[in-house]
Amino acid sequence: MVLSRLTGRLLGVRRHVVDPGGDGASRVPHPVAAVVVGGGIAGMSAAVVLAERGVRVTVLESSATLGGRLAAWPEQLADGVQQVEHGFHAFFRQYYNWRSILRRIDPDLGFLRPVPGYPILADRWPTEEFGDLPAVPPLNLLALLARSPSIRLPDLRRMDREAALPLLGYHPVRTYAELDDTTADELLDSLRLPDRARAMLFEVFAHSFFNHESEMSAAELVAQFHFYLLGNGEGLAFDAPDEDYTTAIWTPLARHLERHGGRVLTGVAATALHPTGTGWRVRTGGGAGHEAPHVVLAVDPPALAELVGASPALATHAPRLVAAMARFGVPGPPYAVARYWLDGDVRPDRAIFSGVSRQSTLDSVTLYHRLEREPRRWAERTGGSVLELHAYACEPDVPATALAERMRGELTALWPEVAELSARELRARVQARAPAFTPGSHARRPGVRTDADGVYLAGDGIATEFPSALMERAAATGVIAANHILRAERAAAEPVYSVRPRGLLAGRA
Ligand SMILES: Cc1cc2nc3c(=O)[nH]c(=O)nc-3n(C[C@H](O)[C@H](O)[C@H](O)COP(=O)(O)OP(=O)(O)OC[C@H]3O[C@@H](n4cnc5c(N)ncnc54)[C@H](O)[C@@H]3O)c2cc1C
Repeated sequence: MVLSRLTGRLLGVRRHVVDPGGDGASRVPHPVAAVVVGGGIAGMSAAVVLAERGVRVTVLESSATLGGRLAAWPEQLADGVQQVEHGFHAFFRQYYNWRSILRRIDPDLGFLRPVPGYPILADRWPTEEFGDLPAVPPLNLLALLARSPSIRLPDLRRMDREAALPLLGYHPVRTYAELDDTTADELLDSLRLPDRARAMLFEVFAHSFFNHESEMSAAELVAQFHFYLLGNGEGLAFDAPDEDYTTAIWTPLARHLERHGGRVLTGVAATALHPTGTGWRVRTGGGAGHEAPHVVLAVDPPALAELVGASPALATHAPRLVAAMARFGVPGPPYAVARYWLDGDVRPDRAIFSGVSRQSTLDSVTLYHRLEREPRRWAERTGGSVLELHAYACEPDVPATALAERMRGELTALWPEVAELSARELRARVQARAPAFTPGSHARRPGVRTDADGVYLAGDGIATEFPSALMERAAATGVIAANHILRAERAAAEPVYSVRPRGLLAGRA
């Protein structure tokens, strides 16, 4: 452990400061307002930072609940109400910016509990274990290769080591210049790995980004390999809340915001943006609106394209933003989430969270009754279990319940005891709102700053100049958007953090 940490320090694998923040008054020196559209991680991160510095923030969220893709809401079951989430989330330890926002509601992050193990299941090969690796690269990669049953020394000799080098050399400019037009599939083919190693070590990883390997940029795969495995000293370990996300995160975060003078309006959708001469009017239903010099659009990609399309003034104020929407607004493939309340339990040795490789639909399974308080109580009361099944990139135009049944069928091939259990309840959803990272998309990916004065973007599809992904990218872009506003108003900005900004073999240039 000590050796691993020391190696990490020597290699610069640690939390890096990409913006030290500071440089201004602790609060805005004059009254100023901002409207944040979207109450997911990105919007609430922006709003929290702005409100703490004295900006009068209004968050407009179209759904009835905060949280977006991390939301939770009550569902009436036959035997009572249960909170149901949009889907299980792994809170990785290198999510420095997201964790910094969460520390506002719990300085010790006590509500996050380590999730032990990280097995990858397949019906044709023994389980691969991603958990319990040394925290620091390259020791984690070496340990994974040394102990993995999916890859042996002769396989490593046969693989194309030259083709593998980009995976170790992530560079924020070069990687995209060299690999953004290639698909993740082509990059994986070029490694000449045995099929089993490819499936168990790489494909399962690529799938977690809500894109098919055949439609995903190889540069993005390299960036994510760096962000999750080779660029951070925290390890491939993650935590998860022990309560539903409304109780653990959204209610306390909204309260924190309100204590700092912010407002959250749920069930209010922004429909268009109009310039006012001194800023922007964000129109909502029924002709109502909210005016402010600064607006943060923190919505998912299709919603952003719709909002931009409904705001004709942006054609003159932000032609680059408007031009980017044709591609950016097309989401990745649909993802499906099915939560089953079953009448019995799976084997006691099954892990809380398992990734799945090479099933046509199922990508992961989570045992909620061993994770969160309310499902745990339900299981104790009924003798049942609560399982959540995910497909991160599935076939389009298949109804949610059909996908749920497919996933359950595929799970029985991995865990035969599931065939003996009957479903008491099912809540299934299929949606397509995740950003696409298609080949060639990097150059035109919008960043936080737009070409319209006072209009900023935030979200997990928005470009950052440092490696980040998913929840962490949503939070980081929210904080960066807030920082632009704070600097414009001469208030101190918030620090922004990154994993090691470049790969171990990227050199200094
Ligand atoms: C099933 C599933 C599992 C996941 N697992 C993980 C994981 O394990 N780890 C991880 O890091 N990430 C995971 N993610 C990804 C993560 O959820 C997202 O990266 C993150 O929540 C994105 O946050 P966001 O704020 O950018 O967008 P969103 O959460 O989409 O928030 C956008 C908000 O804008 C609102 N909105 C849209 N249009 C309007 C409008 N016109 N007016 C007002 N409001 C509007 C929406 O209702 C929404 O609340 C998972 C996602 C899913 C779906």
